[in-house]
Amino acid sequence: MLVHEQLGIYQARHPLPFKLNHVNCYAIKGKDGWYMVDTGLSNEAGRASWQNFFADHSIHISDIRGIYLTHFHPDHYGASGWLQQQSEAQVWIGEIDADRVERYWKHGDEILQAMHQMFTANGMPTEVTQPVIEAMAKLLPFTMPHAEVNTLQAGDSVQLGDYSYKVILTPGHTDGHICYYNEAHQVLLSGDHLLPGISSNISLWPESGSDRDPLDNFLTSLRSIQGLACELVLPAHGKPFNTMAERIGQLLEHHRERLALVRESTGREATAYQVCTRIFPQELSMHELRFAMAETLAHLMYLVYRGEVQLNQSDGVDIFSLV
Ligand SMILES: [Zn+2]
Repeated sequence: MLVHEQLGIYQARHPLPFKLNHVNCYAIKGKDGWYMVDTGLSNEAGRASWQNFFADHSIHISDIRGIYLTHFHPDHYGASGWLQQQSEAQVWIGEIDADRVERYWKHGDEILQAMHQMFTANGMPTEVTQPVIEAMAKLLPFTMPHAEVNTLQAGDSVQLGDYSYKVILTPGHTDGHICYYNEAHQVLLSGDHLLPGISSNISLWPESGSDRDPLDNFLTSLRSIQGLACELVLPAHGKPFNTMAERIGQLLEHHRERLALVRESTGREATAYQVCTRIFPQELSMHELRFAMAETLAHLMYLVYRGEVQLNQSDGVDIFSLV
C-alpha cells in the first residue's frame, strides 16, 4: 500500500504469530532501487509475505539497495539477514541496538538464563517462569540467519529512496531505538517509539550492559520529539497518523497513570511479580506475561531512582516498598 506518494513510501504489512498480529515494514522506492525499513520475523509466513510484496510490486531481490532497522526486536531485525543474503544489501541499525543483537540474539542461552534469574529474583514462581522463558526461546530462530550490520549514530543522514532522512535516537522501547525523519516532508518513520492505539512496551532487561532506567529514557525521548514538525507518522504497528503531538501527550499521561497504579500496588511491600499481577489482572499469553513483568520492573526501577520506592533483598528475592 502506497502511504506517501512523493517520497515513494509503501507499507509492507507482515503477519506475526502473536496477539499483536502484524508488523508494518516500509519499502521506499527510489530511482536506483528499493530501501527497506524494518523486516518482520524470519519465519515461513514472514518470508512468504515479503515474496508476495515483491511479486505485487515487480521487485527483484537485487533491486534492494539498503535495509534500515529501527531496533533489535525480532519483528524488526528478524528477516534482515535473510533479505541481506539474497540481495547483498547492507543492513543498518543504531549503534546501541547493534550491541544488543550481538549480546542477546547471538548469545541466546545467556540472555535466556539471565532473564530466568531476573524473573525468579523478582518473585515469579518457577512454574510460570519456565513457560515464559520457553516462549522467549522460540523467538530466537526468527532472527536467523543473522545479518552483518553497519551502525548508525544520532544525527546521521541516510538516503532512503531519493530523499534524505535524519536518524533520531529515541531510547526507551529499546536502549538504542532510532526513528528516521524526513524534514522537508515532515514524515517520521517511528518504529515502535510512537504507536497509535497501544503504548509501546517498556522493558527492563537483565543487568549486564542494559540501561537500568528505560522508562526515563522513553519519557525523555517522547519529550525530545514533541516539538518536531510532523505531518505524518508511519508506525510499525497500526495505521499511519497525523496527530503526533497529541499522541505524545496521551502516552506521557498513560505512564503517569501507570506509575500511580504501580505505587498503589506496591504499598508496604511487594515483589515485582505481585505488582505485575495486580496491575495486569487480565489473562496474558506467555509473551505478554514477559512484557508485563519486564514493564512492571521498568516502572518500579523508575520509582526507585526517584527515591519513591525502596528496594531491599530478602532470601535472594527483591522486595519493593513505598518510601
Ligand atoms: Zn519492538
